[in-house]
Amino acid sequence: NLDIRVNTIPNDELGSLGKAINDLAVETNEYRTNRSELFANISHELRTPITYLKGYANALKNNLYKTEEEKQQYLTIIETESDHILRLINDLFDLSKMEEGQANLQRETVNLLEIVETSILKIKIELEKKGLKLVTEINRKSDLLIYADGIRVEQIFINLLVNAIQYTEKGSICMKVWGTKNNVHIVIEDTGIGIPEEDLPLVFERFHRVEKSRSRDYGGTGLGLAIVKNLVEIQDGNITVSSKRNKGTKFELSFPRVE
Ligand code: ADP
Repeated sequence: NLDIRVNTIPNDELGSLGKAINDLAVETNEYRTNRSELFANISHELRTPITYLKGYANALKNNLYKTEEEKQQYLTIIETESDHILRLINDLFDLSKMEEGQANLQRETVNLLEIVETSILKIKIELEKKGLKLVTEINRKSDLLIYADGIRVEQIFINLLVNAIQYTEKGSICMKVWGTKNNVHIVIEDTGIGIPEEDLPLVFERFHRVEKSRSRDYGGTGLGLAIVKNLVEIQDGNITVSSKRNKGTKFELSFPRVE
């Protein structure tokens, strides 16, 4: 036990060295807890889809279906669950690279307005499928330049917009974009089911789900917002969330503006 050993050393300098080692040990313990929690989460997240795969593959193998239609349903479940596992693994890989500082960003001066336009274009079909309206307030008077990886910024917007669509049954999604002297600002707001106050500080954490079943029903991995926050921060940006249950959710982002 480091604590006991260090406390017996009278010398001040040695004492502070000991304190540093103790702090590190605490950090290491925390790291260990986080790591085992992470492994537990990953195992849990993989167990569910794999249980489905095994069950339905077994049912097909033993001809436990009554009609051709039922057989097709089983095959569709196998396909959906395999997709889910793939998405989970891709998200985990993405996140671990970012957390190790190996995100491989291709940063350059890009016009935020162009990224916003392509992001909107890409989620249009999802919007139409749900019959939701997109309201935009975009100040196009001047270019809004940022130093970022355009593809990764698009990934941020698409993630937030797809979430907004997923968790909104009626009403609209609003996207506002404007610039101030030193920053660019983006707001993505929906009129959906919202996030309870007690969950707000946790939504950017890996695998945090507001209600256990809520996002899995939508096919989410619980990693989307953790990836978003990482992507924003490694590009010197900032993201915050506010929400009211059954009223809607608002994500506010900013990035430093460049000349
Ligand atoms: P998932 O892939 O499960 O959606 P995310 O990390 O993207 O995971 O989101 C974490 C949780 O935050 C989700 O499970 C969902 O409950 C909640 N959430 C995210 N965005 C919204 C939103 N726009 N409205 C309501 N809840 C949201």
